[in-house]
Amino acid sequence: MRTYPTDETVDVVVVGTGAGGGPLLARLAEAGLRVVALEAGPNFDVTDFVPDEAEGTRVNWMSERISGGEAPTAFGPNNSGRGVGGGTLHWGAFTPRPDARDLRLRSEFGVGADWPVDPGELTRYIEEVERTVGVSGPTPYPWDEGREYHWPAVARNAPADVVADGCAREGIRTATAPAAILTRDHDQPHYGRRSRNLNFGSIHQGDRSDAKATTANTYLPAAVAAGAEIRPDSTVHGIELDARGHVSAVVYTRAGLEVRQRCATLVLAAGGVETPRLLLHTGLANSSGAVGRNFLAHGALQVWGRFDAQIRGYRGYPSSVISEDFVRPTGVDFAGGYLIQSLGVMPVTYATTLVRGGGLWGQELMDALDAWQYSVGVGINGECLPSERNRLVLTDEVDEFGVPRAEITFTPGGNEEAIDRHAARTLTGILEAAGARETRVLARTAHTLGTCRMSADPAEGVVDPDGRSHDIPNLWVCDNSTFPSALSANPCLAQMALSLRTAARMLASRAA
Ligand SMILES: Cc1cc2nc3c(=O)[nH]c(=O)nc-3n(C[C@H](O)[C@H](O)[C@H](O)COP(=O)(O)OP(=O)(O)OC[C@H]3O[C@@H](n4cnc5c(N)ncnc54)[C@H](O)[C@@H]3O)c2cc1C
Repeated sequence: MRTYPTDETVDVVVVGTGAGGGPLLARLAEAGLRVVALEAGPNFDVTDFVPDEAEGTRVNWMSERISGGEAPTAFGPNNSGRGVGGGTLHWGAFTPRPDARDLRLRSEFGVGADWPVDPGELTRYIEEVERTVGVSGPTPYPWDEGREYHWPAVARNAPADVVADGCAREGIRTATAPAAILTRDHDQPHYGRRSRNLNFGSIHQGDRSDAKATTANTYLPAAVAAGAEIRPDSTVHGIELDARGHVSAVVYTRAGLEVRQRCATLVLAAGGVETPRLLLHTGLANSSGAVGRNFLAHGALQVWGRFDAQIRGYRGYPSSVISEDFVRPTGVDFAGGYLIQSLGVMPVTYATTLVRGGGLWGQELMDALDAWQYSVGVGINGECLPSERNRLVLTDEVDEFGVPRAEITFTPGGNEEAIDRHAARTLTGILEAAGARETRVLARTAHTLGTCRMSADPAEGVVDPDGRSHDIPNLWVCDNSTFPSALSANPCLAQMALSLRTAARMLASRAA
C-alpha cells in the first residue's frame, strides 16, 4: 500500500471506510488523487470473524452513546460498524433499491422532504454498485419491470418459505430478495476469489467466506490498488481550519499518539452519529443549526409466530423473501410506506429484541426463547419523517479522546405510529395465514440517518445536493447522515450509490 507523509498536504482525507467512505475513496484514487482514509476500527482478516454473537461485537461501534425519547434507539450491535469496511462488515446485505416515489415524498404527500437528487441518476449509480459488489436477485423483479440482476437469486431459507406461503394466502406478492451475496464464485478485481456461500445465520458477525459484499472486499482494495492509503485504528477528534476558514488538517489518535494529517479537502463518512458528533464538537458547518437535527430511524417492527414444525431460522440467508406491495398501500392514513422482509435470527439478538421490543422478562422470556427453533419472523423497513424533536446533541460526558458523547432522542410521530399499526396487522395476518399458533409484535427501529441532511436551501440543511458543506467549501459529507428522508428501502445500497455520485460531483468541481 502506498503511504503518504502526514506533513504533506494530501488531496483528500476521508474519515470512515463504510458504505459512504469506501466507494468514494476508490473513485477518487482511480482519478489520480492522493487520498488517505482514516478509520477508527481495526483492519480485520476474514478469519477474525466468528459466528458467535458475544465475540462478534468487535465489528460494532460499542463506545457508549446515550439514547433518549419515547422509543430510544438501540445502539451497539444494532446500529454502527467499526473497522475497515464500517457498517458493511455487519450489515445483512439486503439490497432493495429505493423507490423513486420515496425521493419525492413532500411533492406527493406534502410532508417529509424531497431529495435534491434525480431518481434516474441515482438508479444508474445503483446499477453500477450492484455489478461491482455482486448483488443477486430475481429477474424479472415483480415491482420494477425491466430491472435485471447479474447474479441469480439466493436460495430461500425455511422462514422465507413460511412467509411466502402466508403472503400467497393473503394475496400479497413476494419475490426472493435482492442481496449483496454471491450466488456464483467471483474473482473480485484487486481482491481475489470470493466464493458463493449459503450459510449466513451469523451474517451480522462478519462473513469468513467473502460471499457477502463489504467495502473491505470490493471498493477498498480497488482504492488501495489505485494508490489510496488506509490507516486503521485512527480515531479522528479534531479538524483544523486555515485563515480563510477552510479545512487545513484533521487530528486523530493512533496507538496513543496524536497525529495531524494535512489535507486540501476533507470528507466525513463516519456515519449518522459520529459525523454530526464531530461537527458539533468542532463547531463547524453549522450556520443553519441543522447539524444533529432531524434524526431518522427506519420503522423496523417485527412480528414473530410460533409454529408446530421446527424451522431453524438461523440457517440460510436470513432475509430471503421480500414484498414491496406496501410501498404505497391504498386506503391508509399515512404518507409513504414500507417493505416486508422475512427474518432469520441468532439467539442473543432474538432475546434482546424480545426484551426491548416485547417487554418480555422472567418465565415468559424463557418460554419464548425455548420456542426459538419453532419461530418465524417477518419484519418491515418503513418510512420515517424528519421531525424537530428527534435530534442528536452533545452531553457533558467525554470519551477517551476528549470528545463529548452523543445523546440521540427519538420519539415516533403520528406517521410512524400509523405505519407500525398497519404493518402489525399485515404481518400478523401473514403468519396466521401460514399456520402460526401464536404471534407476538415486537417494536423496533433501525439505522441512523438524517443528522446532516442535504438540502438545496442552505438554511434547511448541512450539505448541498452534491454533499458539500453549505459553509466550508472544502468539507464534504458522504454517509447516512445526509439522507433528507428515510425511504422505505434499507439504506446501504442507496448510500454506496450516493458515494459514487458525491465522488463524481467532487471531481467535476475540481475540474471546473
Ligand atoms: C445490524 C445491521 C444490519 C444492517 N443490515 C442492512 C441491510 O441488510 N441492508 C441495508 O441496506 N442496510 C443495512 N444496514 C445499514 C447499513 O449498515 C448502513 O446504512 C451503512 O453501513 C451506513 O454507511 P455509513 O457510511 O453512513 O456508515 P458506516 O458504514 O457505519 O461507516 C462509518 C465508519 O466510520 C468510522 N468512524 C466513525 N467515527 C470515526 C472517527 N471519529 N474517526 C475515524 N473513523 C470513524 C466507523 O468506524 C465506521 O467504519 C444494517 C445496519 C445494521 C446495524
